Amino acid sequence: MEKINVVRPSMPPLKEYMEEIKSIWENRWLTNAGPKHQKLAQELKRCLDVPEVSIFSNGHQALEAAFSMFPVGSEVITTPFTFASTTLAIASRGLVPVFCDIEPDFYTIDPEKIEMLITEKTVAIAPVHVYGNLCSWHKIQEIAQKHHLKVIYDAAHAFGVWDGDKSVGSLGDISMFSFHATKVFHTIEGGCLVHNQPELSKRFAAWRQFGMFDGEEAEILGTNAKLTEFAAAMGLCNLRHLEEQISMRRSAACRYRERLSGQVGLVICKEQVGIKSNYAYMPLQVLPKRFGKSRDEVADRLAKRGIFARKYFYPLTSAFPVYTERFIIQNTPVAAEIAAQILCLPLYAELTKADVDRICDIILESSI
Ligand SMILES: *Cc1c(COP(=O)(O)O)cnc(C)c1O
Repeated sequence: MEKINVVRPSMPPLKEYMEEIKSIWENRWLTNAGPKHQKLAQELKRCLDVPEVSIFSNGHQALEAAFSMFPVGSEVITTPFTFASTTLAIASRGLVPVFCDIEPDFYTIDPEKIEMLITEKTVAIAPVHVYGNLCSWHKIQEIAQKHHLKVIYDAAHAFGVWDGDKSVGSLGDISMFSFHATKVFHTIEGGCLVHNQPELSKRFAAWRQFGMFDGEEAEILGTNAKLTEFAAAMGLCNLRHLEEQISMRRSAACRYRERLSGQVGLVICKEQVGIKSNYAYMPLQVLPKRFGKSRDEVADRLAKRGIFARKYFYPLTSAFPVYTERFIIQNTPVAAEIAAQILCLPLYAELTKADVDRICDIILESSI
């Protein structure tokens, strides 16, 4: 039987990519915000409905650039139920991650638990739209306004998500999107920050180019985080196929729901009402007492049959030794419980109904 991995990067037709990169041979502009980079920025503004887009070599560098705006030692309230990058970007900019628990339905930061973590050192809230589920952004916005905090969203999972006619990119002060190969939209490696301040675009352009605004002198302590023209060209191609990719993902996700929702001991994350999803991930919660098997046992059973689901997110970033040795770690019991039960099932555009059925059969048989 063919192996099935948790993700499979989308690829445009080879011909389309070859056509897209032809002009790079003609102009020899390979990196440093060339024509492909600029065109991609324009397309992203349109697609995400945002006034400013700052492109980076990857999503993590974009996040670091965003957190570089705050004074060292400041506190940022964030979620431990996320990919390593969110917490790392905060800590590596010299800020202190303060971990807030998540709510059990959509796994996003619990706004009811944010205010009690605010101190005079708090400068920002850094929520994550986990699996493409939108955070409770109305409540987060209220808290941020009341306490004069910035909101920096990690929207790495949420490219193409809309709340009615509001793009996910228009929430908060800044949102970061990752264009890593495994994401719904990708440039192989890449990422961006979206916001509404032209001044910030200048700062971020300098940040990704050694801190130089004019190409001669560094005025801020930046880094090298430029996107190559080849990566931007991949993005231009992939963007043309985005809606088709999302609708194929949707078919696979719907089949999972048909097969797994309502099964005793299994929880499939609910769909968010009024939200246009991007079907980025297929998280399944295994409740060991009711299902009769643990998440780890289900994952092992799948792996033995060549299906590689992923314990994503496990462990919590707040349990990473590098942080437990350095910071006071807050208790987040809901996040801890979900991290022990969650399993991301394979989901990508080309996953067929037969593939999904095979995966579901193995999961359902494993309870016996
Ligand atoms: C992928 C991801 C990132 C980092 O993005 P890269 O482009 O891989 O650097 C950050 N946060 C989350 C939640 C992610 O899934």
